[in-house]
Formats: sequence, C-alpha cells, structure tokens
Amino acid sequence: MGWAIELERTTSPKQKPKVSELGFGKYFTDHMFIMNYDEGQGWHHPRIVPYQPISLDPAAKVFHYGQTVFEGLKAYRTADNRIRLFRPSKNLQRLNLSNDRLSIPEIDEQLFLEALLSLVRVDSDWIPGEPETSLYIRPFVIANEPLLGVSPSKQYLFMIILSPVGSYYAEGINPVSIHVESHYVRAVEGGVGTAKTAGNYAAGLKAQEGASEKGYTQVLWLDGVHRRYVEEVGSMNVFFKIGDTVVTPQLNGSFLAGITRDSTLQLLRHWGVPVEERPITIDELVEACRSGELKEAFGTGTAAVISPIGELSYRDEKLVIGSGETGPVSKRLYDTLTGIQYGRVEDPFGWMMEL
Ligand SMILES: *Cc1c(COP(=O)(O)O)cnc(C)c1O
Repeated sequence: MGWAIELERTTSPKQKPKVSELGFGKYFTDHMFIMNYDEGQGWHHPRIVPYQPISLDPAAKVFHYGQTVFEGLKAYRTADNRIRLFRPSKNLQRLNLSNDRLSIPEIDEQLFLEALLSLVRVDSDWIPGEPETSLYIRPFVIANEPLLGVSPSKQYLFMIILSPVGSYYAEGINPVSIHVESHYVRAVEGGVGTAKTAGNYAAGLKAQEGASEKGYTQVLWLDGVHRRYVEEVGSMNVFFKIGDTVVTPQLNGSFLAGITRDSTLQLLRHWGVPVEERPITIDELVEACRSGELKEAFGTGTAAVISPIGELSYRDEKLVIGSGETGPVSKRLYDTLTGIQYGRVEDPFGWMMEL
C-alpha cells in the first residue's frame, strides 16, 4: 500500500562513537521518526527528520499523569552484511496492547512497520558490525495535550529513536546476584504491569536502588498480593530449571509478556525439554535450592537476551544456584537465540525479518 512518510535528511551527520564506548542507550543516530495524533484527525503527518529535541508545553499530560508507552527491539548486522530484525510484528502488537491499557489510540501496524523499516534504512550505517553489537530501536508514544484535567489526552506524539549498543556481555556472560524484594512491589493484577509504560519503571527504582547498594545487580519481584509468587527479574522475565524441568511464571495479568520469554519457551519445546508455565512461589525455590534441585535460573529480555542468575538473596538467606556458574540450558539458549539473530544458525521459526 505505502504510506507517504516524508523524509528530511540531516545536513550535518554526527561523528559515530567508537564501538568500545557504545554501552547501552547513550548515543543516538542522525534521524528519528515522528507522527502526530489529534482528535478528529487521527494519526497523521508521519515523517523522518534529523534527530533533534522536541518542544512540549509544560502542561502536556505525559508530565503529570504518565500517559505514555514504549517498545524495545533490535536490528542486527550479520557477518555477510545483511540487516535483520527479530520478530518485529510482536513489538507492533504489544505496543497496541499497551496503548489500549493506557487509553492511547491504536497505531496502524502496517504504518508502524513501514516507519520502523524506513528509519532503520535511513540510518543503516549506524548499525555496528562487531560481534554481539546491535542497533536498539525505541518506539514510544507520549500524551502532549496541554491540559491538567485527568482524562485521556486528545493529542499524542509517536516517535522512534535509534541507539547503537555495545555487547551486553563485554566481559563475558557471567551470572548475576539478585535481591528478592519482599517489601516493595512492581505491579498488581488489574493494574498496568502487562503494559510497557513508564510508571512501572519509576515504581521499581526504589527497590532497584536498595538492591544496588547491597551489591545486587537486579531485583526479583514477588506478586503484589501475597509477596510469595515470583513474577519478573528487573525488566526481564524469569526461568528456573528445577530437576529436569524448566519452569516460568504463567502470564497472570501483572507482568509483561516478553517476546524473548515466548521465544525461549518455543525453543525449549522444540528441543524436547520439559517446560511448565505455572505459579512458582519463593518458598518452592528456597526448598529446591536447599535440596539441590534448583539447577539454573536466568532472566530473558531483548537487551541481555539471556541473563544467568548465580545467586538469590531472600530475607538474609543466600541461595547459590547450581554451581553459581552459567548453566548448560542458559548457555544453549543464549547461543541459539543470538545465533538466529546474527544469522549464524538456522532460523526454524521464521523469526527474522530481512530489511
Ligand atoms: C521489555 C520487558 C521485558 C522483556 O520483554 P522482551 O520482549 O523479551 O524484551 C520483561 N519485563 C518487563 C517489565 C519489560 O519491560
């Protein structure tokens, strides 16, 4: 069909950062995508313009009531110089699920995909080619109607920005220590935990800060009602290998349905590994750890792919998982997922979209 996406190229391209300096989300490319929504007009004026600050009225609703959502995915450069995206249609669908929860108007998925592909093409020379580097893609929506009344905004901006990112495991894939949070909670069923919306992350900072002070990398969140059921780790979904079975919390309406989570489940089932999606209590994990049945734990998410967990601390008890080293299932999942993304191994599920 083809949407008329305007393109205004920059006249002053930026100097590209050194790969060793990339880190995560520090540098942005030369262009960005932006589109407006106005009540009565719908989404309109899709355009790619030079990367630049935007001007907002101080009364813009996003500042006061947090009506905003985002997504996160990556573009990968293969060894033979092809550019590919990992399951982008999942991100388009999830943005609209988040939009719906936050009373933000739906975005046409065809237009969204075209915007995303066009922008990545325009800035494709920003996609680094070194092993395990990528271009992080951050689509987001903000409510920009200047009105302090509490009601859904009648104006929005949808934007996509791009950031070249370094290898998450520059120092090798090492298991992290996690603090099990028994005071603060992240979200509850019926709330906005299933949406990728700013408030969930702001609400998590306090616990994250406390955990960092004690030397832990991330927080393991328990459910908001009983403080017993395991939900997520930081902004990743979480898996445990107990005996020979890999278990992960079943989607329950209070945490995010990760695309890496879904891909992990598909791979494990494809390999014939016994998998269960079910409620998991922290007591079960403590018991399994004491009895030596808790063999592996890992988080899943776009940024880290697979993040092995070597230790959990729960109410002053330290639980060392398996040998404290990266387990074989975690390693195989990491190698396979990144292998598919970078075109090193076959893609049996048709997950990759070529640019
Ligand atoms: C983004 C996110 C995840 C991981 O989702 P992916 O689609 O795998 O990147 C998990 N939990 C939270 C809270 C998130 O924001």
